[in-house]
Amino acid sequence: MNKPAGAPDWFDAVVVGAGFSGLYMLYRLRRLGLSVKVFDSAGDVGGTWYWNRYPGARCDIPTTDYAYSFDPELEKEWTWSEKYATQPEILDYLRFVADRYGLRADIELSTSVTSAHWDEQERRWSIVTDRGTRLRCRYYIMASGCLSMPKSLDIKGTDRFAGNVYFTSRWPHEGVDFTGQRVAVIGTGSSGIQAIPLIARQASQLTVFQRTPNFSVPAHNGPAPADRLTRLAQDREEYRDAARWSPGGVPVEPTGILGVTASETVARERFEDAWRAGQLFSILGVFADQGVNPASNKIVADMIREKIRSIVHDPWTADALCPKDHYFGTKRPCLDTGYFETYNLPHVRLVDLHRQPITSITEDGIDTADESFGFDAIVYATGFDAMTGAVEAVDVTGRDGLSLTEKWAAGPSTYLGLMTAGFPNFFMITGPGSPSVLSNMAVSIEQHVDWVADCLKDMSAEGFETIEPTPLAESGWDQHVRDCGAITLHPTANSWYMGANVPGKPRVFLPYIGGVAVYRQVCDDVVAQDYLGFRRTGPGGERCRDGVIRRMQPDVSLVLQVMAEMGLPPMETLSAGEARAMMALAAETRPPSPEVGEVTDGLMPGPAGDLPYRLYRPPSAGPHPVVVYFHGGGWVLGDLDSDDPLGRDLCVRSDAVIVSVNYRHAPEARFPAAAEDAFAALRWTAAHAAELGGIPGQIAVAGWSAGGNIAAVACQLARDADGPRVSGQLLICPVTDSDMTRPSYAENGDGYVLTTPLMHWFWNYYADQPDRGDPRAAPLRGNLDGLPPACVVTADFDPLRDEGLAYADALEASGAQVRRVRARGHTHTSVTMVGVVISGAPVRAEIAEALRNFFPSAP
Ligand code: NAP
Repeated sequence: MNKPAGAPDWFDAVVVGAGFSGLYMLYRLRRLGLSVKVFDSAGDVGGTWYWNRYPGARCDIPTTDYAYSFDPELEKEWTWSEKYATQPEILDYLRFVADRYGLRADIELSTSVTSAHWDEQERRWSIVTDRGTRLRCRYYIMASGCLSMPKSLDIKGTDRFAGNVYFTSRWPHEGVDFTGQRVAVIGTGSSGIQAIPLIARQASQLTVFQRTPNFSVPAHNGPAPADRLTRLAQDREEYRDAARWSPGGVPVEPTGILGVTASETVARERFEDAWRAGQLFSILGVFADQGVNPASNKIVADMIREKIRSIVHDPWTADALCPKDHYFGTKRPCLDTGYFETYNLPHVRLVDLHRQPITSITEDGIDTADESFGFDAIVYATGFDAMTGAVEAVDVTGRDGLSLTEKWAAGPSTYLGLMTAGFPNFFMITGPGSPSVLSNMAVSIEQHVDWVADCLKDMSAEGFETIEPTPLAESGWDQHVRDCGAITLHPTANSWYMGANVPGKPRVFLPYIGGVAVYRQVCDDVVAQDYLGFRRTGPGGERCRDGVIRRMQPDVSLVLQVMAEMGLPPMETLSAGEARAMMALAAETRPPSPEVGEVTDGLMPGPAGDLPYRLYRPPSAGPHPVVVYFHGGGWVLGDLDSDDPLGRDLCVRSDAVIVSVNYRHAPEARFPAAAEDAFAALRWTAAHAAELGGIPGQIAVAGWSAGGNIAAVACQLARDADGPRVSGQLLICPVTDSDMTRPSYAENGDGYVLTTPLMHWFWNYYADQPDRGDPRAAPLRGNLDGLPPACVVTADFDPLRDEGLAYADALEASGAQVRRVRARGHTHTSVTMVGVVISGAPVRAEIAEALRNFFPSAP
């Protein structure tokens, strides 16, 4: 079709960026037969490796892994010279790739896209560049890199300096000779840490201005590692596939060893091995729990600090170089070559900006609160507006004039880090909400480019012209990204991952930390479910299967996966005795439970003999309100030990005395034994509150699962018996009815630990069919008038969810005050897994608050 005179040029796709991702995107789109135009503001291809030419610039993922894998022939034609190749070598590689596939013909260099506007009428993007070029395209793809937009200078007086100014991210092509010069370097991230040792070799004086000391590990660079080369030579595809299905995009076997339980010898061995390996994924994987558990993280961080102190001679400098304000790994750790050793040179000095902040850059140098420094050159290694900076640098306007910057004002929102609702046919390669910067970028880039190209191919085959995520799918993914970040230590750090390095940027954890393999599976699942969460339109109409791809908390999924791998027999195929033995065995591997003030075991009288109880006293001075707690286990399983972690957790969080009661179990003692015991325990505890260190009259009941069932029943019995007065009932995923036809049974009856067959097994042991409608078995069927305030906890993936909700509704309808706590993304059991399922902690904090509120007069 001929273009009318003056009309903008037309392309199927416009790609921004000619680095790793843009080049491969172009390659794939061309193979689909699409017309493509790639723009890059740089003078050549290479992206980040075009710009970051500072001395010492290298990759920090072994180069054997930091390379394209899409074409075996390409791999045969290129050999890396070093374990971590230099910037010039990587740039040569990318130039080689561009030439080998004849990509340059479609790339316009030294040109920036300034605006991209969606035309809803035409279903096209209108693109404008800084050279005034106007063109239109169907697909607009940002392959502009995660760390490509330098952070604006936020130091006073930067324009005053009369000497030479350099930015690591925009280094002069001709290089810089610092011989004989007094040089300042501001910034000690990866760029600064790589550049400083080399600048020190030339400068007559080098002063490093450090705001936050960083963890860095020696790269031990050298020839490309023989073991990797051998593995690649033996079975290249197997190796690349292992990378694609690994947590970080590099084939590393993740450890199951926990820092909190490892012996000192094991911890030391693992750390020293990682230090020797000189690889980020090794040092980040010394322990399985170092990214989530502060105690485990500290073991690794302490050992790194010990190394720094052993390298740096001057104790003051060594101490100032030791990171203390963030957990290891929460800011991107660095790989270095002789970084800490550089501070032993007589002409190198460290200025700790925490003690001596910069007041201004001056004409001659830098002024701090206490000193004036004179310099010939200042090097800024101050970082990037990461992940969103380059995308938002273009004026992107979607449907109905919605601007991307406005949409993302409170932080980016994406579906899979690939697209964002309201912006049809707009793709991001390694956008926020994808593993990107937490992974080997080469692997993540290929996965994204392949996904986009396959998606366009599918659209064309099915006659669709536009694709866009739905708001539901997008908010679900945003939530999942946040949930994954929230269980780690990352949100505690002022890192660029959190947007904290750029003044005014919303504080949001930007990348997806669920891992490369999990993420790849998610993307594949979305496609397999007919592009779940995407709306596709074309001349033939639209298709949309709306939904959320991951609703479960990430650590809950992990627990289910580990349990599945253990291959345990289904509980309902065991006898009660065998099931109890299996539970006891599982309890042995639990992590340490929270410390409380005091734990005492005792006996209280029950209707058919003494009932054992365990009392947890908070560390604070008493007396305290008292909560009588009943454990879970379907009236058959469980005891004082099974719910010990939860008892402790409730005690410290709610500042109440918890009296956990071991009631009689079925099948030895069937209905109504457990319910009768619960009421007896409530009465006895209320009568002896003062002796137990409690406040008389301030008694609540609580229980989980079947324990929630008898706690609810105890409240009804207490009301009918005119006492004791109960201040509140905490019902955690309670059994409230014997009807298994509610939708939550259909949705969650299989695969989430508590299954429909298991509930049948429990009921069969506990109560005869005619008894199951008795309100002492099914409290939902009782009279709910005049009951105490309640907190009802329900979990999304629990067959009992709907009967919990029904009980909350019915209580409310009868006039009781009800607080509902939704354990979002949890199963019936996961909320109670103290110390194992981290995402349960906020839910338990909410539960504890509800408990405290039962006792308004308590201090
Ligand atoms: P960065 O990690 O953000 O480091 C910037 C440094 O400048 C930090 O030490 C920061 O201190 C400091 N800084 C920023 N503003 C400052 C101010 N106003 N006053 C004083 N100090 C200031 O940036 P980067 O070193 O360029 O690295 C960014 C990322 O790029 C890396 O984390 C890595 O992912 C990637 N990278 C990779 C390689 C590689 O592959 N080898 C090399 C370079 C970069 P605060 O920490 O206190 O903010």
